[in-house]
Amino acid sequence: MKNLTNIGVIKELMERYGFSFSKGLGQNFLINPSVCPRIAEEGFAGSGYGILEIGTGFGTLTAELAKRADKVTAVEIDKRLLPVLSETLSGFDNVKIINDDIMKVDLGELIKNEFDGLKVAVCANLPYYITSPVIMLLLESELPITAITVMVQKEAAVRLTAKPGTRESGAVTVAVNYYGEVETLFNVSRGSFMPAPKVDSAVIQIRPDRKYRNMVRNKELFFKVVKGAFSQRRKTMVNSLSSAAGIPKDAIFSALEKAGLPETVRAEKLDMESLISFTNLLDCTL
Ligand code: SAM
Repeated sequence: MKNLTNIGVIKELMERYGFSFSKGLGQNFLINPSVCPRIAEEGFAGSGYGILEIGTGFGTLTAELAKRADKVTAVEIDKRLLPVLSETLSGFDNVKIINDDIMKVDLGELIKNEFDGLKVAVCANLPYYITSPVIMLLLESELPITAITVMVQKEAAVRLTAKPGTRESGAVTVAVNYYGEVETLFNVSRGSFMPAPKVDSAVIQIRPDRKYRNMVRNKELFFKVVKGAFSQRRKTMVNSLSSAAGIPKDAIFSALEKAGLPETVRAEKLDMESLISFTNLLDCTL
């Protein structure tokens, strides 16, 4: 099998297939040989598992996943990569490539059709331009998955893995925490990619669980509050929620008081429990 982290091998493949990197598709391929095995190991690629990969590139991570898991199904948008993948992954009979846009795939159906009888995990070196939309799509689809293990840019990792109630947290932090536990597994320097991006990256892992989902009484209102409160994060909850989410001020004051929160509190000061209890009380008031 070809060493797909070798720059010479990549250049030779590029030349032979007339391939050039698309910046628009976030094509920064991994060339650090230690990274893909680690994503596969920590991302649950193993016996009894089917892995959904997003964005194959030349198949570097795909191959490491296929060595360990029972099956790998990868969704790749760029059809120019298909002939390359036929060559680079020819040694595996447990890999299927679907040429599609991940944002347009019915993921529930895909998992049902591809991974019958297997546990499922998602692994990817995500194209940076759709990091948050892909993660939210995976979470909102409430898929039967053990974990989502993905490479994202460092800045996104900081936001996604922040603790709700701290300055780094945002609407996406709270949304991810609503669906599961999230942590950074390890950092990856920009030199680990070809071409090298301008920033470093990190591999994060989300393990879905229902703890907070079970506590929230009105999901729609919870997300309305989160979106509204963080849209003007420097403002107090009262001001941001009344202006951005159109919630009456007296209802907000009343829910804050019942939740034991100060009138002047800002969204970034609220941990998950406080946000949930505030929203549940607001739900009763409205
Ligand atoms: N997994 C490879 C690696 O680590 O070397 C490539 C990772 S590269 C950062 C992102 C990959 O996602 C590219 O192959 C790109 O073509 C693909 N991609 C970009 N947008 C996509 C989309 N909407 N749906 C599926 N794949 C996409």
